[in-house]
Amino acid sequence: MKINVYIEQQALELNKPFTYECDEDISVGCRVRVPFGNKEYIGIVNEIHVQSDYDKIKKVIEVIDKTPLLNEELMELAQWMSDTYVAPLIACYKTMLPPAMKPSSNKAKIVFEQWAYPKESDELLTKHQFELLSSLSLPMKASEYRKQCKSCAKTLIEKGYIELREIEKNSIEIKKGNDTSFSLTSQQAQAIDTILTSSDSVFLLHGVTGSGKTEVFLQLAQNVLDSGKQVLFLVPEIGLTPMMIQRVSARFGSKIAIYHSQLSAQEKYSQYQLVKNNQVNIVVGTRSSVFMPFSNLGLILMDEEHDSSYKQDNTPKYVTKDIVLKRSQTHHCKVVLASATPSLDSYARAYKGVYKLVTLSQRINQTMPKIQLIDMKKEQAIYGISKTLLDKIKLCLSRDEQVILLLNRRGYLPIVQCSSCKEVLTCPDCGIALTYHKADHSCICHCCGRVFYFNQECPKCHGHDFFQSGMGTEKLEEKIISLFPDANVYRMDADSTRKKNAHEKILSEFEEKGDILIGTQMVAKGLDFARVTLVGILQADQSLIRSDFSSSEVSYQILEQASGRAGRSDKAGEVCIQTFDPNHFVMKSVISHDYLSFFKTEMNYRHLGKYPPYVYMCTLIFSHANLEKVEQVAQKHKEYLHNIKVLGPIQIHSRKQCYRFRLVLKSNSNEFLNETVKKCVKYHSSLKTNVKMDINMYPNRLEE
Ligand code: ADP
Ligand code: ZN
Repeated sequence: MKINVYIEQQALELNKPFTYECDEDISVGCRVRVPFGNKEYIGIVNEIHVQSDYDKIKKVIEVIDKTPLLNEELMELAQWMSDTYVAPLIACYKTMLPPAMKPSSNKAKIVFEQWAYPKESDELLTKHQFELLSSLSLPMKASEYRKQCKSCAKTLIEKGYIELREIEKNSIEIKKGNDTSFSLTSQQAQAIDTILTSSDSVFLLHGVTGSGKTEVFLQLAQNVLDSGKQVLFLVPEIGLTPMMIQRVSARFGSKIAIYHSQLSAQEKYSQYQLVKNNQVNIVVGTRSSVFMPFSNLGLILMDEEHDSSYKQDNTPKYVTKDIVLKRSQTHHCKVVLASATPSLDSYARAYKGVYKLVTLSQRINQTMPKIQLIDMKKEQAIYGISKTLLDKIKLCLSRDEQVILLLNRRGYLPIVQCSSCKEVLTCPDCGIALTYHKADHSCICHCCGRVFYFNQECPKCHGHDFFQSGMGTEKLEEKIISLFPDANVYRMDADSTRKKNAHEKILSEFEEKGDILIGTQMVAKGLDFARVTLVGILQADQSLIRSDFSSSEVSYQILEQASGRAGRSDKAGEVCIQTFDPNHFVMKSVISHDYLSFFKTEMNYRHLGKYPPYVYMCTLIFSHANLEKVEQVAQKHKEYLHNIKVLGPIQIHSRKQCYRFRLVLKSNSNEFLNETVKKCVKYHSSLKTNVKMDINMYPNRLEE
């Protein structure tokens, strides 16, 4: 029969099916190896029994899978993604699969282990052998079996009572936490009741920090599991997963799969298989778990729905919420988007009644933390920490309570500048200032990740003195330790959590014996520690001063979320926000915990500036090593796009030695935007240029 195949080639020009002849039985969703040009490629079958009059159809070289990797629902979803985000279909297929199953990977990566299984046999056994056999709890790992049966192990196999099988290794053991169940507050009970009984299907659970959203999730999940359906529980980034996994596993036991970026290929594969084989009914994971092969989904919970990690940053640049909504339609299941600081997009929809708004306005302990803005224009400060905050830290420690300090910048010094010749060290590829990391004597480009060894010498004048102004978390940690030598200080940022399970380790040690936790925005998210009574936010204006349509939204979210870590239990909480701009509306909304006033003001700005959620937006980024060439191509696209609102082209930071120019497209109509971008792809390929064009539909921030 003839089949259609999408080959593993990311170019948008090759984003179409190619027809091959296949002699074997095959289904849609399987991988095949096919000839293409004078090379071989792996591809995914997207249609079978196709008609074609073309007489030079090539033959499939090898059928790789007997059963489809992706079921019908996921195949359709990939098609929809390809269409919506204007991304190659093969890239969409790949994104949905765990690494070990991606088209070009081979199964060799998957590790097997031997297990002993019981078998029927008529052979006679001695009394000893019989007793031994009956005492085994089969199936069990072969190694364990041999240990328990010693000399009889071989005999039992020979007599046909035991069979050894190679099983894909399932390497994750979920540690169970302790479960505490509460009697619900009336707001929690009301929220659960509304969600269960309402005929709506999409809910926005707007619950202030510490209002007990997790308990609402768990009870909703219980309800769905009882009805025999599956639950998907999405959390942002890896940072929050350990705590959430503990809570979920404490409640529901072991029928859970977990899925996040720090799992190995083998672990991801085994977790994926658990879902595929219907061995679990609840999945806790980060954005990519939205593609798990569920058969009977009853509920999708999306915690911290505003979080930027829900937008994938490489092709296909999907928006997790879109995928959630799409899958919920297929499975006819309810969706709960939850946050203390909902995205403007979600709240605007809830405001209009597109989503059903459910509110938890009260903390479990009835008291929101008290927030103080510290005007840094007026305050004395040591190492960038105001006197007010220092005094509060002292007091807090003297009461044996805990402190969280947020500084959203990692490394030691954000800028390395020679004090004699004023040379600033910059990344040769990106042109932006390098950050000094003291622990490994290196200067790192936070844009492209390149690492340079730093020998404390200026490359230009060979001087050895550098300005020491500015501060990242690494330096803050050093200074805090010098100021509070008896305190137990922990640091959580991308550098300290690179190792597997590092988040979990830092958080559990801090909870048990820590005094001060320093970190980037990671510490603003989800943490629930009863003894934290003080939160200090340093350089709070940092995200506000970025010139991006989403700066205020992102700042509000970080500040409110970080504040929400204080005083969550029986002790009152306090927050100090160090700012140079205490009159900014974001600061004002944060101190009064007034989301609605923030929302209304910010919506007003978005309306005036014609930004989302009032318009649909897409960015096109052109890049090439030749400056003139890339500028010219960007300019041509601008001219081509005369019937849609376009901003730019403007030059943004280079990356990997390529100059980059950006166009921003805006439209009131999603369909029109989509059509226009697709036309633009055609136009771009008609130019036959090697300038790269990168498409980002619905970006939640503009790249700089
Ligand atoms: P949120 O996610 O809304 O910020 P959490 O779900 O983390 O809040 O809950 C905050 C704290 O309150 C947790 O320590 C949780 O165990 C506790 N909690 C939740 N519901 C109740 C309840 N009904 N009674 C007492 N404590 C509760
Ligand atoms: Zn760089």
